[in-house]
Amino acid sequence: MAQRYVRVQSQTGQLHYGLLRPDRSVQVLDAPPWLQGQPTDMELSADSYAMLAPCAPSKVVAIGKNYAARAIEMGTTTPAEPLLFIKPSTAVIAAGAPIYYPTQATQIDYEGELAVVIGTRCAHVPPDEAHAKIWGYTIANDITARDLQQRDDQWTRAKGFDTFCPLGPWIVRELSPGARLQTFLNQRAEPVQSASVEDMTYSPDYLVAYISEIMTLLPGDVILTGTPAGSGPMKVGDQVRVEIEGIGGLSNTVALRPQER
Ligand code: MG
Repeated sequence: MAQRYVRVQSQTGQLHYGLLRPDRSVQVLDAPPWLQGQPTDMELSADSYAMLAPCAPSKVVAIGKNYAARAIEMGTTTPAEPLLFIKPSTAVIAAGAPIYYPTQATQIDYEGELAVVIGTRCAHVPPDEAHAKIWGYTIANDITARDLQQRDDQWTRAKGFDTFCPLGPWIVRELSPGARLQTFLNQRAEPVQSASVEDMTYSPDYLVAYISEIMTLLPGDVILTGTPAGSGPMKVGDQVRVEIEGIGGLSNTVALRPQER
């Protein structure tokens, strides 16, 4: 099993990066692993921490229509260049955390996606050097208020609500060639999305180089590489699980937001 890198909060409120062991205990690192964090003597037992999203990105750069079948499903064609948008860092939530259904929306959709975690500061990175800038891979769900996306000329509102970027549960260093990405709703055996990550038009390496010509990517930043065909709506109470072969599964449940604060 691949090494699993996590970020957790201890019972005393301390945040730690660490290595998740098969018995679910966490060996604590003294810094984020992409900043050369080293193992410490500290260990957290399985019942003594809460799992957080595995990194805390300064920004999440997302790609639209990066699978041809998804572009066709949207009634469009594959863009001639990657189509970029930003999800705010405040949208990121951990595996298991609730996705809140906004009162402004009438349709919110799941979009299972491969997420790339940047390890090294990147500006103007040549394509042949881009792979070395990727520290690892995790799973994301690019939650989208579809009615608002269709109503607005740009996507910031539709993609930017708090809780609209489930991420995790952990990071692995390598992506299995041809890994299958599947999304499941409510324990149904049949996936609602199923594709190989190799079906994406613009590869993770290509995207790192392309984005780095526009904005500097910082260690811990995340790129969402687009969703395959089959994105669809969820209602309050639905459980959504995105699985990627060789990484694991990211589950979240749709809920009503508690009293506004
Ligand atoms: Mg998406």
